[in-house]
Amino acid sequence: MKMPTKFRTHCPFCKTHTEHKVERVKKGKASSMTRITRQKHRHQGIGNTGKFSKVPGGDKPTKKVALRYRCTVCKKAYQKKCFRAGKFELTG
Ligand SMILES: [Zn+2]
Repeated sequence: MKMPTKFRTHCPFCKTHTEHKVERVKKGKASSMTRITRQKHRHQGIGNTGKFSKVPGGDKPTKKVALRYRCTVCKKAYQKKCFRAGKFELTG
């Protein structure tokens, strides 16, 4: 999915449509070694390691994308509900 870095949308502080900048929010660890995968590593050799299955255990096929919208008029930022996307790019 591609998304422009600037677009006009409703600002809850100005209570009108203004230009917004999109910022990506980085959250969580980069490592995929969760508690569950560590447990599975101990039991390697028995059954499915979880690495190639979609859910549960292994990495999910899509990642949650968290975005922060900053209003260029009042300079306030707010986050909207994040969504899932396999690939996410900011353009422009
Ligand atoms: Zn605003």
